[in-house]
Amino acid sequence: MNADNQDTSVVHAGVVGRFAPSPSGRMHLGNIFSALIAWLSVRAANGRMVLRIEDLDPRCADPERAEQIMADLHWLGLDWDEGPIYQHDRLEVYRTAVTELQDRGLVYPCFCSRAELHAASAPHASDGTPMYAGTCRNLTPDEIAEKSRLRPAALRLRVPAEDDPAGTIAFSDCVFGDHSETLAHDCGDYLIRRSDGVFAYQLVVVVDDAEMGVTEVVRGHDLLSSVPRQIYLQRLLGYPEPAYAHVPMLVAPDGRRLSKREHDCDMGELKRTFGTPERLLGKLAHAAGLTEDDEPHSAAQLVDTFSWNTVRAHRNDIVIGEAFFA
Ligand code: GLU
Repeated sequence: MNADNQDTSVVHAGVVGRFAPSPSGRMHLGNIFSALIAWLSVRAANGRMVLRIEDLDPRCADPERAEQIMADLHWLGLDWDEGPIYQHDRLEVYRTAVTELQDRGLVYPCFCSRAELHAASAPHASDGTPMYAGTCRNLTPDEIAEKSRLRPAALRLRVPAEDDPAGTIAFSDCVFGDHSETLAHDCGDYLIRRSDGVFAYQLVVVVDDAEMGVTEVVRGHDLLSSVPRQIYLQRLLGYPEPAYAHVPMLVAPDGRRLSKREHDCDMGELKRTFGTPERLLGKLAHAAGLTEDDEPHSAAQLVDTFSWNTVRAHRNDIVIGEAFFA
């Protein structure tokens, strides 16, 4: 990701981006926007786009939902060069990564229930994940054996002590700039496999991005706080660090995040309201500051003028009000 890629004659043939939808429901305006920017960045750099379906959570297991997302991406004119790659086909790869971390003594079983985690009066990481208090960090083998009989364990990654520089992760986001987090202080030991056996997002995203050769991760601002946990795992597993660009959130006029619950912003409803992808993308590009007016534009028509500088200049929350749908 070139900080200033207005010069589209520069060919960054090595750029690899990705769409990584979780098919928990239909696409909505927020993830359409993230997908659009991810696609524009790759196409402006003559790069390669990978589609990965993040379907490990049982709520995402319905194959029809993934098909629907692909149909919606097609309708929008957002294509990809590789995939779909389904995470459910890759369990062995995740298992290997977890085993490597276990063999190095970096992982321990955690038996805390959700209620126990939330009851702990520890501070919360910025994404709302309870800061893990370390309850199961030093269990003896006997305690582990006894607890294992009662409930299945999750697996947590041991983060370095607060005064160990290895646990302070700094990076520069292409849109939001410099960030630094001390894992022991900001999130604590984090999950790499849930107690229901599902590999955790933080682990699989790192393994997949590395194995798929992803060089730039473009996604919503809500995932910015995950980056330090992902970089720490990349370092442990010897993976390269991709460039990160988090795009602003879309909000309702009252400042609330537009969520999947906002019926108007569901892809099915958007198709009915706007009729054509050009009308929808024209409005969206204008709301995001990418175009001067809100005239219809296809995704392909937005490539030539795409610039990260423009995204950066409009990084405040993007307000989607009545006028957007008019
Ligand atoms: N699967 C995640 C989502 O749909 C995105 C993960 C990522 O981009 O790292 O919200």
